[in-house]
Amino acid sequence: MEHIIHRVWRRPFTHFPRTLILPKRNHSGRAEHTPCTPSARPKPALLMSRLYQSSNLCDVGQDGRLSAEMTCKSQRLMQQAGLIHPSNPGCYYYLPATVRSMEKLVRVIDQEMQGIGGQKLDMPSLCSADLWRLTGRWDLMGKELFRLTDRHGGDYCLGPTHEEAVTTLVTHQIFSYKQLPLLLYQITRKFRDEPKPKFGLLRGREFYMKDMYSFDVSEEAAHQTYESVCQAYKQLFARLGLPCVQVQADTGNIGGTLSHEFQLPADAGEDRLLLCGNCSFSANVETVSSDGTDCPQCKTGTLVESKGIEVGHTFYLSKKYSEIFKAEFRDAQNKIVVTEMGCYGLGVTRILAAAIEVMSTEEEIRWPGLIAPYQVCVIPPKKGSKVDEGTALGEELVHALGETLPHMKGEVVFDDRTQMTIGKRLKDASKLGYPYVIVVGQGALEETPKFEVICQQTGETVFLSKDGLLDLLGRVETV
Ligand code: ATP
Ligand code: MG
Repeated sequence: MEHIIHRVWRRPFTHFPRTLILPKRNHSGRAEHTPCTPSARPKPALLMSRLYQSSNLCDVGQDGRLSAEMTCKSQRLMQQAGLIHPSNPGCYYYLPATVRSMEKLVRVIDQEMQGIGGQKLDMPSLCSADLWRLTGRWDLMGKELFRLTDRHGGDYCLGPTHEEAVTTLVTHQIFSYKQLPLLLYQITRKFRDEPKPKFGLLRGREFYMKDMYSFDVSEEAAHQTYESVCQAYKQLFARLGLPCVQVQADTGNIGGTLSHEFQLPADAGEDRLLLCGNCSFSANVETVSSDGTDCPQCKTGTLVESKGIEVGHTFYLSKKYSEIFKAEFRDAQNKIVVTEMGCYGLGVTRILAAAIEVMSTEEEIRWPGLIAPYQVCVIPPKKGSKVDEGTALGEELVHALGETLPHMKGEVVFDDRTQMTIGKRLKDASKLGYPYVIVVGQGALEETPKFEVICQQTGETVFLSKDGLLDLLGRVETV
């Protein structure tokens, strides 16, 4: 994925003027112009005019295709902002800004999964039907499986989930009880022929999922592992600032006996949740048998219904797969015992869209700060305006940010479309959702230059000196 971004950005920037202007302070403190050669001052690395997404920016409702059948906010906003582009039903091009955001999300997920001992691997997407026949899921999955036949007549499916694959893998060795728990995970594309792919990245036919599989020595140990994964999920969503609820869930065709979903309450959600106003009870409607509104747990509270987007799902699988494939270990008495398994999914691309769905306004994308594609957009003045010379100051600022704050490297976009008014570029910036937008205007030319900083998260606008700005951005967490 990375090389896609680099290919776009490494292109030489040929449209810079031969002579550039650097402001210098004169005795009165006002900026004065001194010509200098292009090599004297590094140019901002990320120019808005060169980013692939920018050409796609269009007004809300301007594009007919985006209106009628496109019924959810995140899909509309993501297409309008040039974050995704539709191809086949349920399949999208993830454009460069989305890939940046996803790579960040993947890093956060890696941190959390590795924090509880997860080891990352990557399994083939082409899965042999033989394995799926062994568990009975070749038939059970019906039309949802994308099936194909190779040149030798062998049947395959494109992996929608990997219980069969991972369990077969671990049977190639008999573990010692000292080597367990074993937690293996991957973050890869999954394929499901959904009956109704819709809502952009929320329900695709090809999407990214993090799927982890655990192998334990006993039911008790498996429950502990299960609990540690749930804790890691909670921490992940807390770090993203997303209000996730853990609800008891149906085990579906994955099987097993204990299951939870991680749901983001949102109107666009396709799941119905019941939450008790009095105790911690929360469940997917599918799991609650009674029709009443009394809480089955505390008996006194009333259940309130809410819609939710399922962003994660955990299952305790017991020995359902390990028994079939013989995933075994030697216990302390050297006896061979079947492992206890769990599996844990996170909808990586769904989380991106769901975050936009719950955080954005109708017109402006808001990201969880940690995974915003870029942290900062610097907007210099319009060409030919009174404060034109602010452009050079803006470039200098971008350079200073890169030099002083290593964690901001690659995070600062310079909106060099100076033929456009500041207002128009501000509108575009809010559509794309930068946590910080810096306007280089009149104040930048004063004795102590001041920059206008719009903080998306708080909605505040503040005027800061260069040092104040460095201090503010120095405290921003990036990943
Ligand atoms: P749903 O009920 O929404 O169809 P699921 O229960 O079939 O999802 P799981 O098998 O639990 O999905 O997959 C794990 C995670 O993968 C889900 O919690 C969800 O976040 C994500 N996911 C599942 N299906 C899709 C899809 N079609 N598009 C995007 N993400 C998906
Ligand atoms: Mg599920």
